[in-house]
Amino acid sequence: MDGKLRDNDISHVVEADRAHVWHHLIQHAPWSGTDPKADPRIIVEGRGMRVWDQKGKEHLDGVSGGVWTVNVGYGRERIANAVRDQLIKLPYFAGSAGSIPGALFSEKLISKMPGMSRVYYTNSGSEANEKAFKMVRQIAHKRYGGKKHKILYRDRDYHGTTIACLSAGGQDQRNAQYGPYTPGFVRVPHCLEYRAQWDLEGEEYGIAAANAIEEVILAEGPDTIGALCLEPVTAGGGVIVPPVGYWPRVQEICRKYDILLHIDEVVCGIGRTGTWFGYQHYGVEPDFVTMAKGVASGYAAIACCVTNERVFDMFKDDTTDPMNYFRDISTFGGCTAGPAAALENMAIIEEEDLLGNTVAMGDYMLDQLAALKDKHAVIGDVRGKGLFLGAELVADRATKEPMDEKRVQAVVADCMAQGVIIGATNRSIPGFNNTLCYSPALIATKDDINHLIAATDAALTRVFG
Ligand code: PLP
Repeated sequence: MDGKLRDNDISHVVEADRAHVWHHLIQHAPWSGTDPKADPRIIVEGRGMRVWDQKGKEHLDGVSGGVWTVNVGYGRERIANAVRDQLIKLPYFAGSAGSIPGALFSEKLISKMPGMSRVYYTNSGSEANEKAFKMVRQIAHKRYGGKKHKILYRDRDYHGTTIACLSAGGQDQRNAQYGPYTPGFVRVPHCLEYRAQWDLEGEEYGIAAANAIEEVILAEGPDTIGALCLEPVTAGGGVIVPPVGYWPRVQEICRKYDILLHIDEVVCGIGRTGTWFGYQHYGVEPDFVTMAKGVASGYAAIACCVTNERVFDMFKDDTTDPMNYFRDISTFGGCTAGPAAALENMAIIEEEDLLGNTVAMGDYMLDQLAALKDKHAVIGDVRGKGLFLGAELVADRATKEPMDEKRVQAVVADCMAQGVIIGATNRSIPGFNNTLCYSPALIATKDDINHLIAATDAALTRVFG
């Protein structure tokens, strides 16, 4: 850390934070042994894969800013410079008009998404998903007398924090106490083979998990279902890589019942799994792709709801109807800093071949996690795609009883004490909050990965013996 903040300045910051900041997703009251008098954690600075806190302590960031975001790492001056230049030229104009970075980033993005054609700019992953939900509802009204309006979502998937997104949320504890929810969202089963719901394996399992979606469609009535919304690889719900056979069958089912396929790439989008988008591993053709976190690696806020021309055309096919357009605006979808940063972000990924690095380092890390599994009986399963990996902890390998949450958190805390930040699936899924999560920046080297693995190894040994 460069030490520009003097000790008394930083203690003022800590007190201001303690007094006035309502932090995201943490309990401010004492519970589970958290000391309410402990200093809040303030991250002051970052370079590459590392961040420094208010005490000057260095941490290796194994989770790209906590929530799969800083894909190209910290301290990228060329992104900062592009944003600065753009802000001086034009910071903002409402999205009913275009902007230079908005047009150029759309063109660049679409060049990586064969079959897709239109980019709708917004602010957050939740909002991008809401836009897709609204488009589905409007299509139902325009084309099907309002009937084909239901949206299917999957157990253990997460699509955001608004009430409509929570209505499409497959993580019950995250949703609890925020009802009543938006009607018209219907849940389908998850596809995690390790927690098998069908007595099958491999491709047969994948097909059975997809067929379970068809059963829900038939029970609800196919003429009532407008869209199916899925994460390509489930993130906070447990790093769930879909089984072989799952996605092709999902696509078949959507086509059979004329159901629009909405893929939520908020986590996987822009390289996280080693392809530009997670769905590109599986050869599917979505109608909506939503994205946010890694789009500009957190250097500016930007999210997008991308559609194909088939969807776009439905909003311009009847020129006699004055209501026949998407009557929606997102004020900050007109900020130019987002697409300016996103353009540089994509250029860095291309120039440094970070997709290639993600595949190579992801494979290496999965092997290292498998070796850790051989050493520690507490690891029941390891899984992942690219630099998006998880290790599920169990109390008993035979019964697969999930490990107690406090002990999972103790592993995370031990790593933190070692100066290594890893994650764990959130407390939202009772009984399934037991997966250690890793999502280092796409620039990670073997040394970084060895460091993450060594810290986890030491933590597991200390916590479980
Ligand atoms: N979709 C997925 C898969 C996510 O993991 C998240 C956030 O973690 C969201 C959507 C919501 O994104 P945001 O927090 O930007 O609203």
